[in-house]
Amino acid sequence: MARVYNFSAGPSMLPESVLKTAAAEMLDYKGTGESVMEMSHRSKEYGEIITAAESLLREIMNIPDNYKVLFLQGGASTQFAAIPLNFMNGTGKADYVVTGQWAKKAAAEAGRYGDVNIVASSADKTFSYIPKLDKSTFTKDADYFYICMNNTIYGTVYHELPDTGDVPLIADISSCFLSEPLDVTKFGMLYGGAQKNVAPAGVTICIIREDLLGKARDITPTMLNYQIHADNGSMYNTPPCYTIYIMKLVLEWIKNEVGGLEKMKELNEKKAKILYDFLDSSEMFKGTVVPEDRSLMNVPFVTGDTDLDAKFVAAAKEAGFINIKGHRTVGGMRASIYNAMPIEGVEKLVAFMKKFEEENK
Ligand SMILES: *Cc1c(COP(=O)(O)O)cnc(C)c1O
Repeated sequence: MARVYNFSAGPSMLPESVLKTAAAEMLDYKGTGESVMEMSHRSKEYGEIITAAESLLREIMNIPDNYKVLFLQGGASTQFAAIPLNFMNGTGKADYVVTGQWAKKAAAEAGRYGDVNIVASSADKTFSYIPKLDKSTFTKDADYFYICMNNTIYGTVYHELPDTGDVPLIADISSCFLSEPLDVTKFGMLYGGAQKNVAPAGVTICIIREDLLGKARDITPTMLNYQIHADNGSMYNTPPCYTIYIMKLVLEWIKNEVGGLEKMKELNEKKAKILYDFLDSSEMFKGTVVPEDRSLMNVPFVTGDTDLDAKFVAAAKEAGFINIKGHRTVGGMRASIYNAMPIEGVEKLVAFMKKFEEENK
């Protein structure tokens, strides 16, 4: 059996050991005679799975007790509406930094519920950088301040967080979840869809400071009310059971096989460096992001010639490097090198790029 290297922006690769465990436990989960897929979410066995998933996440991310951890459905995109409904509850104002499509969509959705101030945007240069922020332009009495931490499509990341004072900082971390240590106490809320770095699609993880809960607007649909899910331990309705089970296996992999988030970061830096060093030395391939804002997870690059880009994408696929085509708004290529991409995958990709460059001079 030949497994390919999947450079997709999401859903993306999962650790092979996780897939093997899931396969081994598929028909009979730990002597229950049933698959986790078939199990009641109210059963004792499933209760142990979801409890372990939460406590592993708390341990690995060092999440303080005054934060709730919720496992929800609807994807990151559903939170674009849930966030204003739950938190635009004081002045009805919020600050947003627009660093790409996801931040733009989040800001547009919030604009349906309140007063959105776009503090800064990097749209002028196709989101190839993180804008410098001027604190004097922040709304003093905003209900929250919103960023998209790692910009999946454009390959940028905040290396420094905005200083928002008492205004809670909310961050979409869908595409950098668990890629490196993060100081949770700096945020009012962190959230992300799982399908980039944590699990298959289906679960959205929300980490919310307790004091921000319980103030949702009256019009908030029950299913979008974070307090309801917090009160019910993410069991108000059926949670995405199987996805949470795979997430638990991924968390065990990070803890036991990788050795935690410091180690995860080292590995991710090593992988990204191999690719960026090559892009910086290549005559043919160029990274599209300013070096100081480069993401460890998503690496967009171009040849400058759309026909050559297409030729490369096709040849890469043929050679077992799949889903490397860039987003239509950037063009070219994008290699997403999430946690589960092995270092050999990046080394082999770079070797392939070198060879392609030689042969297409
Ligand atoms: C993929 C992605 C989303 C959208 O996630 P869905 O779960 O498909 O709604 C939002 N934000 C970021 C940063 C993403 O990478």
